[in-house]
Amino acid sequence: MRDSPGLSMGAFRIMSTDGSQLLQQIEAVVGEPGILTGKGLAGRSAGIWSGGELKAMALVRPTTTAQVSAVMKLCHAAGQSVVPAGGMTGLAGGHKSTSADIVLSTERMNRIESVDAHSRCMTVEAGAILQTVQETAAGAGLMFALDLGARASCTIGGNIATNAGGVRVLRYGMMREQVLGLEAVLADGTVVSSMFNVLKNNTGYDPRQMFLGSEGTLGIVTRAVLRLHEAPLAVETAILAAPSWEKVMSLLRYFDAALPGALGAYEVMWRDHYELNTGPCSSVDAPLAVDGPYYVLMDVFISDADHGRENLQALLMNALEQGDITDGALASSETERGKFWQIRENFEPEQAKFGVIYGYDISLPLDAMEAYVEAVRARLQRRFADAELMAYGHIGDGNLHFSIYPGEQRDRAAVDEMVYFPLQALQGSVSAEHGIGLVKKAYLGYTRGDAEIELMRKTKRMMDPANILNPGKIFDL
Ligand SMILES: Cc1cc2nc3c(=O)[nH]c(=O)nc-3n(C[C@H](O)[C@H](O)[C@H](O)COP(=O)(O)OP(=O)(O)OC[C@H]3O[C@@H](n4cnc5c(N)ncnc54)[C@H](O)[C@@H]3O)c2cc1C
Repeated sequence: MRDSPGLSMGAFRIMSTDGSQLLQQIEAVVGEPGILTGKGLAGRSAGIWSGGELKAMALVRPTTTAQVSAVMKLCHAAGQSVVPAGGMTGLAGGHKSTSADIVLSTERMNRIESVDAHSRCMTVEAGAILQTVQETAAGAGLMFALDLGARASCTIGGNIATNAGGVRVLRYGMMREQVLGLEAVLADGTVVSSMFNVLKNNTGYDPRQMFLGSEGTLGIVTRAVLRLHEAPLAVETAILAAPSWEKVMSLLRYFDAALPGALGAYEVMWRDHYELNTGPCSSVDAPLAVDGPYYVLMDVFISDADHGRENLQALLMNALEQGDITDGALASSETERGKFWQIRENFEPEQAKFGVIYGYDISLPLDAMEAYVEAVRARLQRRFADAELMAYGHIGDGNLHFSIYPGEQRDRAAVDEMVYFPLQALQGSVSAEHGIGLVKKAYLGYTRGDAEIELMRKTKRMMDPANILNPGKIFDL
């Protein structure tokens, strides 16, 4: 061990009286490379997105479920708080830690254990990187369906803990639908192994669901069996200019009905986002003129190599003739597909132009979305004249993202309230896919009722009575 820092009292913790003894016991479990403290933590980042140096009493890096279990037994006995961490790409602050916490990282548990092509599943350790899982599935002629912008850094354990969404939810569902089995370690070190590899297993309560979306508060996911799908023969990507919100909604149904099961993504950008991401701050030129209110980015999975592209072209032509779109482009190469997607996924232009951006991730019914966006924009600019709102999202899933430049005043609480408050009347959600973590705790009650939140609290008290696992995330006990 390199250092033995002192302990400080946290609001929710019964602290160990002898922290250095606990760290020595943990080192005996994970070995010297498995624990970093003091100067050993220097240079460790708190996350590529959130930035800053990692704060922790120690960063513990086990290599097996048995080690995680032994570490948790020690922490449980000592009343020591533990923050689970994967790729630290989370956008809700769920992986945030203080210098009084032990951060338990799955970074050394990143093996792909096996691929079963007949059962179409893959067994992995929780620290496996999403992109590695996708590439391994592709290597076996199959596909792992979850996909999101942080694919090169986020982990399967983090994807499970946040029930991640991304760009393929319309076709394949969220992470919840991709997990056949999992293994997790509870706060007291108990290992719950539910490593099934079959689609159907209807045997009472489903322990998997306790951990999906629990943001590291109920257990540490250590392994998982992931569902794989047949890979499409090809993916076609089109970008379309839609003249109205009505057309955005009707086009979704038009393509989904004409190409049953083939719509792989239906993303929409409001003009501000499209304009910024094809303008001087961006490296991508606009494939369509910047003159419409909405731009649709669509992936279509092709299963008929001979006619798939032609069928799609005919559908696009028909939409143009009917006035449902005013312009459109079908990517002619992988490079062009990548460029179209860059327009949707790039965050550099907004960073370059505004510096400070507040990000939002909400959902609401499509019928209400246009009026909601314009009402939030109007309220925002009435209060902060220099503020700007850019809207885009996984609209096929009812999932809207805002990037808001708050203006010089930077009043986060006021902007949050403007975005979240109206969702209550619209049956919307303050978090479509990123989770609650720390940043949306105050607004959980806008989406969940008292009875639902109390059930969550009871579950947490039952599974982690000492409140040592990621304390203070999602809600306070
Ligand atoms: C550019 C970019 C694009 C993104 N796009 C999307 C998107 O489209 N859809 C989407 O849903 N998210 C998106 N995200 C958010 C983020 O990538 C996801 O939330 C992801 O699932 C987090 O995985 P992670 O491994 O980085 O987890 P972390 O950030 O390390 O942790 C997230 C939460 O999970 C817990 N956790 C981590 N590992 C475990 C484990 N093994 N057991 C128990 N708890 C654990 C942590 O305590 C924390 O509460 C994006 C992020 C970025 C930076």
